[in-house]
Amino acid sequence: MLLTLTSTAEPATDLGYLLHKSPFRPHSFDLTFGKAHVFYPEARTERCTAALLLEIDPVALVRGRPGARETRTLAQYVNDRPYVASSFLSVAIAEVFGTALSGRCKERPEMAARELALEARVSAVPCRGGETFLRRLFEPLGYEVTVERLALDEMNADWGPSRYFNVTIAGSKRLCDLLAHLYVLIPVLDDDKHYWVGEDEVEKLLRRGEGWLAAHPERDAIALRYLKHQRSLAREALEQLVTEEPPRADDNEPIDAIEKGISLNDQRIGSVLATLKQCGAKRVIDLGCGDGKLLRALVADKTFDEVVGVDVSHRALEIAADRLRIDRMPEKQRARVKLLQGSLVYRDQRLVGYDAAAIVEVVEHLEPYRLAAFERAVFEVARPGTVVVTTPNAEYNVKFETLPTGRFRHHDHRFEWSRAELEAWGRNVAERFGYGARFVPIGPLDPSVGAPTQMAVFTR
Ligand code: SAH
Repeated sequence: MLLTLTSTAEPATDLGYLLHKSPFRPHSFDLTFGKAHVFYPEARTERCTAALLLEIDPVALVRGRPGARETRTLAQYVNDRPYVASSFLSVAIAEVFGTALSGRCKERPEMAARELALEARVSAVPCRGGETFLRRLFEPLGYEVTVERLALDEMNADWGPSRYFNVTIAGSKRLCDLLAHLYVLIPVLDDDKHYWVGEDEVEKLLRRGEGWLAAHPERDAIALRYLKHQRSLAREALEQLVTEEPPRADDNEPIDAIEKGISLNDQRIGSVLATLKQCGAKRVIDLGCGDGKLLRALVADKTFDEVVGVDVSHRALEIAADRLRIDRMPEKQRARVKLLQGSLVYRDQRLVGYDAAAIVEVVEHLEPYRLAAFERAVFEVARPGTVVVTTPNAEYNVKFETLPTGRFRHHDHRFEWSRAELEAWGRNVAERFGYGARFVPIGPLDPSVGAPTQMAVFTR
């Protein structure tokens, strides 16, 4: 089993620092399932290649196992395990290149953080789903993919192709991202059961998939195959991923397009801002701040001494920081603004003690079964004096000509409430957590279906 990593980012031999393995001598490691060797077939300033070679002993794999004696078959001894890329390669990546995988490098930290011209080649990858699936896994991540299908037998061309491929992916990537992509996607390609898959595999998938898996078009297939077709685990992983979904560039588009003509967004921000000022709030948190539209309005208003944006999505916070021009703010201004990554469904001590919280067009993105956790995290733990929640009014959807009946305004919405539904939810929350509640329409009011957006204002 062979993986090679090539850098052409000069001085390419610095790849040795990034991998924490000197290019100038070979390295060997004992793993539970065999031996791993790291060596460099080439180490020049212009181009440097590290090879990770795994020696797997299929007999040893069987021998040590309890219960193996009764179920021994020939295939346990004679198989493709030693040669074919599989989940063992992921384990070896984590064990041998663990520091590089986590993005750390004492000697060359700036290089570890930078995108470099990198290429990875895996020999003999089995791929259920063939070349098409292989490309669908790596191309959305921005790699140039070269696939070469191996013959079943080189000496007998008429036997046709095998199910194995040599795969090369090339792109400008941080080394840690490239390793994380391989770590997750090699077992996905292999799609076979080799090792026990338990709870911590979900955790590993989420950790290694951070920042890319949520937005990957094949994320469902990836989770299902990575978790070896254990649907309940895959569902658990996907649910956690979905809330981490970064806003796509076009995320607000469908909604803006549907709600166009009334600049509903501006009215929403205006109503929330007015409500926050009215209640005399000085220190405000914007929960699920997204790319920071409300944050900008809050920061621009001197009434507010402290403004904190919270979102589960790193990407959203990056965009918000960019749009706020945080790095160009004068010191005093900057001290008023904070951006925090966090999820609204977990209790978070950092959010305790604020005058008010705004939760604008966020609740409808939560899975209904997570609402209870969200309610406690906000109304019981963070417990701001005022909570302002806005959400679409589902009744108004009939007024949007381009929106088919029964559809939500946005593909990521998990539900949309009627006015009665928001009120029922709001009154229940208010009563349970000791708040008063009132309900306010936002946008043009239709006599029969109400306004496009609805707002619930909770005060202690
Ligand atoms: N308030 C913003 C963004 C609304 S879009 C606006 O009005 O423009 C919904 C936002 O909620 C997204 O940025 C999404 O990342 C965030 N989000 C979804 N689930 C979340 C959760 N569990 N915790 C924190 N933020 C979440």
